[in-house]
Amino acid sequence: MTWDPIAATCAEPIGVDVAQGHMLSLVHPLSPHTVPLVDALGLALAGDIVAPVSIPPFRNSAMDGYAIQSADSSHGPVTLRIVGQVAAGETNNTVVQSGEAIRIMTGAQVPDGADAVVPFELVRVEGDRVAVPQGITSGANIRNPGEDIVSGTVVASAGEIVSSALVGALAAVGTAHVAVRRVPRVAILSTGDEVVPPGTPLMQGKIWDANAPMLSALVQLAGGQPHALGIAADSAEDIRSRLADARTPDLMITSGGVSAGDFDMVKDVLRADGSVAVCQVRMKPGRPLAIGTINGIPMLGLPGNPAAAYVSFLQYAWPAIRRLVGVADTTLSEIDAVLTTALTDRPGRRTFMRGELTAHEGRLAVRPVLRQGSAMIRGLVDSNCLIVIPEERDRLADGELVRVQLLPGTSLTSFPHQT
Ligand code: AMP
Ligand code: MG
Repeated sequence: MTWDPIAATCAEPIGVDVAQGHMLSLVHPLSPHTVPLVDALGLALAGDIVAPVSIPPFRNSAMDGYAIQSADSSHGPVTLRIVGQVAAGETNNTVVQSGEAIRIMTGAQVPDGADAVVPFELVRVEGDRVAVPQGITSGANIRNPGEDIVSGTVVASAGEIVSSALVGALAAVGTAHVAVRRVPRVAILSTGDEVVPPGTPLMQGKIWDANAPMLSALVQLAGGQPHALGIAADSAEDIRSRLADARTPDLMITSGGVSAGDFDMVKDVLRADGSVAVCQVRMKPGRPLAIGTINGIPMLGLPGNPAAAYVSFLQYAWPAIRRLVGVADTTLSEIDAVLTTALTDRPGRRTFMRGELTAHEGRLAVRPVLRQGSAMIRGLVDSNCLIVIPEERDRLADGELVRVQLLPGTSLTSFPHQT
């Protein structure tokens, strides 16, 4: 996509979806590399993995017992002659005939001729004879080839995150190494002459940096590796030199310095050193925003107010990092819920209200939490979702179905009463 960096998009605010499109156009799944299977946990697979054989690969016993012909037991209890044994890992080429049994261990290949295994608990052994009860069914306690995984089927698809269970399944089909995408490196820079690091004394007029630690946490939840660049003063040179310190990040994220104030320098740096694709977005919280590139590296300039930074991160950085990670589904989970209070809102912007989603009598209900100000961080802690109010709406009725975005870490399984 090409655009005239400044003129086209900075003249007036653009919609959230268009801004998100700009952000996503700047990032691509990271190139794949091969790692030992055990190192792939949590990473996205770069390709499909097909089972080269069936699992189980051969007919084997699910119990310790005796392999028999089930028909021998169909007319009543029967005593069979023990003609051999087979342990796991061994094969026994004896073909079990009518009237015969082979002692067999769990996981051992079932000898030809046998069609059932009678567990030790059900038999009585005397010398070389074993007494078996009536009515053993054909196939009893036998695991058939491919009953778990069929040869040639896709065990895991490109874009799937390797879970502990998937490590097991991939190992079971013989995988020693897999192609995965590496963890995206995300540089994080706070800006503002008033911003000082937590852990240092708070002088008059200063505030502690809430954004960098918060964004670092969000980057990790999105599957990225955060790299803190510290706090830049409101000077183009400081911002520039700190961004230059970043060691080849896949994405750079700043907070603050993107609005129209006298000392909002981030956009100036983007304009001077790179390109700007987005300047303002029709959303609340968080109208000011910068999306562009510096030295070819995608950059996202978030607003300074913490709640605005958080919400904007989720709309732009989250999908960008998920795309770098290499997963197919890059967006946060969304669901409809019943609004339990009426809301009014100024039209002409998409509003994200911090909300509390609950399960109530089998339905999902949602209401806004207190403290919705852009600068207020406490309301975020009390919320588990964002209520999305479309641009064109100015009021929502009590009882109306609304769209909600689940905050990272909120899972629908935490609403057990949902029907
Ligand atoms: P700005 O976007 O730079 O104009 O900042 C908007 C508001 O967010 C101001 O009140 C800043 O003090 C505040 N702010 C900026 N950066 C941070 C930060 N890292 N942590 C907490 N508040 C911040
Ligand atoms: Mg500032």
